[in-house]
Amino acid sequence: MIKNYMEILVDEVFNEVKNIYSTCSCEQCISDIKSLALTNLPPVYFLSNVDEGEKKAFLLDRQRKISVLAKLAEAAELVCSKCSKDEKMREIL
Ligand SMILES: [Zn+2]
Repeated sequence: MIKNYMEILVDEVFNEVKNIYSTCSCEQCISDIKSLALTNLPPVYFLSNVDEGEKKAFLLDRQRKISVLAKLAEAAELVCSKCSKDEKMREIL
């Protein structure tokens, strides 16, 4: 099973911030925001000899999470520029 860990990280970071912050909740916006963020982030795949600890460390890396959040914020501004949300995700950075 091949997994792009960047995709998992984008999902996790998005789930963390959506509670603190009221992003657009429509399915289409959410999927567009994630897709756009992923387009701007390098895909990450682990080889089978990489242990779980290393994968976990990747997902918990704070600096990486902050850059993912920045990409999500940029994407949200583009995707939701026509939506009626006036708060900006970037403010919680
Ligand atoms: Zn929206």
